[in-house]
Amino acid sequence: MSNEQHLRQLLSHIDGQGYKAYKQIKGSYEFPDFNLYIDHVQGDPFALPSKVRLRVDQKRAQIPAGLWPNSVRQVALEDFIARAVRQSVQALVSPKKGSGKSGLVFIDAGRQEVLERTAAVITEDWVETRLQVGLPAAGRRILGKQATAMLCKEIPQIVEQALMWKNIDHEQCRTFVECVENQEAIYQQLDEFGLVAFVANGAVLPRVSGISDLPLLGMQVVGFRAPESLETRIEVPNHLPSGETMIEGLGIPKGITLIVGGGYHGKSTLLKALERCVYAHIPGDGREYVITTRDAVKIRAEDGRQVEKVNINPFISNLPQEISTDSFCSGDASGSTSQAANIMEALEVGAKLLLLDEDTSATNFMVRDARMQLLVHKDQEPITPFVDRVRELYDSLGVSTVLVMGGSGDYFDVANTVIKMQDYRPYDVGNLAREIVDEHPTQRQVETPESFGQVTARIPQAKSFNASRGRREVKIEARARDLLMYGSDSIDLRYVDQLVETSQTRAVGHAIYLANQSMMSDSATLQDVVEDLEHFFDQNSLDALDPFYREEYHPGNFSRPRKYEIAAAINRLRTLKLKIPFNK
Ligand code: ADP
Ligand code: MG
Repeated sequence: MSNEQHLRQLLSHIDGQGYKAYKQIKGSYEFPDFNLYIDHVQGDPFALPSKVRLRVDQKRAQIPAGLWPNSVRQVALEDFIARAVRQSVQALVSPKKGSGKSGLVFIDAGRQEVLERTAAVITEDWVETRLQVGLPAAGRRILGKQATAMLCKEIPQIVEQALMWKNIDHEQCRTFVECVENQEAIYQQLDEFGLVAFVANGAVLPRVSGISDLPLLGMQVVGFRAPESLETRIEVPNHLPSGETMIEGLGIPKGITLIVGGGYHGKSTLLKALERCVYAHIPGDGREYVITTRDAVKIRAEDGRQVEKVNINPFISNLPQEISTDSFCSGDASGSTSQAANIMEALEVGAKLLLLDEDTSATNFMVRDARMQLLVHKDQEPITPFVDRVRELYDSLGVSTVLVMGGSGDYFDVANTVIKMQDYRPYDVGNLAREIVDEHPTQRQVETPESFGQVTARIPQAKSFNASRGRREVKIEARARDLLMYGSDSIDLRYVDQLVETSQTRAVGHAIYLANQSMMSDSATLQDVVEDLEHFFDQNSLDALDPFYREEYHPGNFSRPRKYEIAAAINRLRTLKLKIPFNK
């Protein structure tokens, strides 16, 4: 390892030279308080920025070990540190002039969700953060002085501010970590309370806008308040802002829960919160004490999507022209077939709770009323509507549903819990709904030609995956949260609502590659594969996802995806081929 002085000399030596000369600074440098690792040097000012790591010995950083005695707290603390680094970057890094990404310093810190991520790592011995930096140039000439200012001045200041315990806001840090631990504790207790979700009193669910995930603020916001009959009290390990360790809120029980109410009364807002709250949230998000079981999957219609060999029989059979529905394939599925496929694929990998909103569902998939049953006979209708399967899903497969349905009372017959949203407040109208069922029995016929049957397991064929593009053996790129390039295939993830950030999408891409290399076989089902990946993540750090991973060379921009989103991406790969085992 060389020292800081050496780096300064190198930078002054290559000042004014062509950009390629930057390659010489790759290596590790000992600064007085930390080590700087320059792992990757970009090829030109417009290329992906260079990768550096800043590592501080715990003897200097002194982050108390008592703060993170378990992995939940560790993930929270790492996430917090990444945010602290981002704050320092914003405060300290002056936007420099220069070409391309000159002078840019970036850390992949989180937004509203708290996720396991590679941007910051803490161990007993050291704390480390991973940055991407744009090495400065004018045109393609190296700006050595600017590079020195960046690497030898700004970066040490960032380290000083964000990685040294003495300069970290202790109160804020503890609150953050404790809040995440509380969320985990509620999650762990859902089962014993018989719940699939919990929404704390006082939670703020609405967001600023359709394109911002920040909480809506101001007088008009109605805080959440559970109806008494559905109120649950759950104990948490750390003090809440109120000073208490008991938290009250709406417990959504297992079974079938209907969210009804007039238009614009907050139904979809509640469902969206449940959707997102399979992940922990930061204090102040408003949804930090909204907790949904992690096996919850949002189900929606997604016409146009690719579907490969999915058994959609429970919902759709007898398609015209004898199109197979027990191994349904389409390059351009319809609203109802795509929604059926989305359900079957979620069940295939272990979903325990389905979340549906009428706003994003195919109407003919959700309901078929009495009059329509008279006009179009069941023989001519391939669809068994969800209303006729939702009960069976719970009774025979143990899969619960939370459904937003303001447009049809046909679901009253099958619901266990009915919540009415009115002026953004929830009311328990279960008894009323049951009275209505008694007084106004439904005229419709239940249409379940056959029982639900088994969910077909499918075996992904390793050879149908190809990560290469052009001369590159592995080319995996997350262009955006919803667009993953896998080799030369582009995977459209626009309607995979529970994928929340680009770093997760990137991790999904590399996870698929890893699975393809080492987990797929003639007998490994898709569920086996995604569960192997979960196991792998539990055992190894996300760092290992980088295909060029070596000890001491770290990607700083992965965050952990769930198995459901990995499966969703595999299912949307246009080249995907699967085998169906005979015995199933
Ligand atoms: P619905 O699905 O019942 O038609 P939405 O959930 O889409 O209604 O909500 C309609 C509007 O009300 C949205 O703009 C949303 O941000 C706002 N909103 C939802 N919940 C609240 C609340 N608790 N306080 C204030 N505004 C809210
Ligand atoms: Mg709505």
